[in-house]
Amino acid sequence: MALVFLGSTTCDLCGEVLNVDDHMVAFPNAIQNELDSLYGFNDQVFHLTCLMSSVQWQSIDLFLKQYSLFKATKICVGCKQLITNPDEYLNLGFLTTDVRNPLFNYNFLEFHREHFNQCSEKKEISAHLQQQKDDKLWRGNRLDWIF
Ligand SMILES: [Zn+2]
Ligand SMILES: [Zn+2]
Repeated sequence: MALVFLGSTTCDLCGEVLNVDDHMVAFPNAIQNELDSLYGFNDQVFHLTCLMSSVQWQSIDLFLKQYSLFKATKICVGCKQLITNPDEYLNLGFLTTDVRNPLFNYNFLEFHREHFNQCSEKKEISAHLQQQKDDKLWRGNRLDWIF
């Protein structure tokens, strides 16, 4: 997560300093595909108003909504139980903003590591991911641990 020092950290869109009274958004380092239009937003900080006037606001808004839901939960998709031990915790991050992309349904899924290896989703996700790599729609190795 990007660190913010109010009064010295600048907004990555307008370059102005972020102040206490500003509504700001610290983008998590969650976008996994280097070809995603939002990849460059990873780990940066913005004025909310700057993001809202971006041409990508629709995707950003969708991302932020999914992210806030994700932050509110820690439930394993495999066993439906709460994940309490950080060592057992795994999440897939944000895979795509495109609702027609088969990976959209897997955005931010969370698992116990052990249960991810056993679940049917793992096969589907790795197959979709490989397909996207083959189709040159995906770049980067942030999810290659799946294979
Ligand atoms: Zn700004
Ligand atoms: Zn589980």
